[in-house]
Amino acid sequence: MDSSATDAVKGQAKMATGIGPVILFGPPGAGKGTQAKVITETYGVPQISTGDILRDNVSRGTELGLQAKAVMNRGELVPDDLVCGMVAERLAVSDCFKGFILDGFPRTLAQAKWLDKFFGNRAFETLKDCRPAVVVRIVVGYNVLLQRLTGRVSCPTCGRSYNVHTQPPRVPDTCDVDGSRLFTRKDDREEVIAERLKAYEQQTLPLAEYYRKRGRLLEIDGDQPVEKVTADVLRAIEHGNSL
Ligand code: AMP
Repeated sequence: MDSSATDAVKGQAKMATGIGPVILFGPPGAGKGTQAKVITETYGVPQISTGDILRDNVSRGTELGLQAKAVMNRGELVPDDLVCGMVAERLAVSDCFKGFILDGFPRTLAQAKWLDKFFGNRAFETLKDCRPAVVVRIVVGYNVLLQRLTGRVSCPTCGRSYNVHTQPPRVPDTCDVDGSRLFTRKDDREEVIAERLKAYEQQTLPLAEYYRKRGRLLEIDGDQPVEKVTADVLRAIEHGNSL
């Protein structure tokens, strides 16, 4: 483990209040990003979206971005070592010490095992002065996901997502919050969406069993009105923290 990772683990031990780590788990289009934003506002802990960090690196043309770009455009997963290094760096920042929301990470068994080690080989146990991680799985059927992803447009400024069919912005192509022009993510094109959902089924879904066996998995129905999903997510976090 490098020194930034060690610092982050020490930081974990400092968590006295807050909600501890929350892992939002689910396929692309499940609403993880939308729900993560609400949790962020509710508890004042940061959202760590590996997809957002990667996209930021791609747009800034960093070394990491150059390595990730083609893989992301194909809808495949970026290699574990790159993503884990990136997460270690982010978790070392002090705003994570009272909790954080992992959105889109872990996505492979190797990443989940890495995270266990990162928490000092005591993952999902109550660390001294630190609450255990809560894993909230948002369950949504395949056809609903397809409809959500094909209609999705996103704001480049605040990250908010809309759906042109089911949840359009008030003014077409324009963010309700900050007026930015909305765009369609490159990987929200139909042929890439199929690849992303395949990657989820094959590489990410097995993690549900991994966390279930550890007694940390809480499942909620993501095919409900967004406010209802939010209420269920917040309830699951409160419940998970009391386990
Ligand atoms: P997302 O915004 O979470 O849908 O992620 C967009 C893309 O970023 C994914 O399709 C992957 O190519 C890449 N990505 C995001 N998170 C991860 C991760 N934890 N492991 C590997 N690749 C990732």
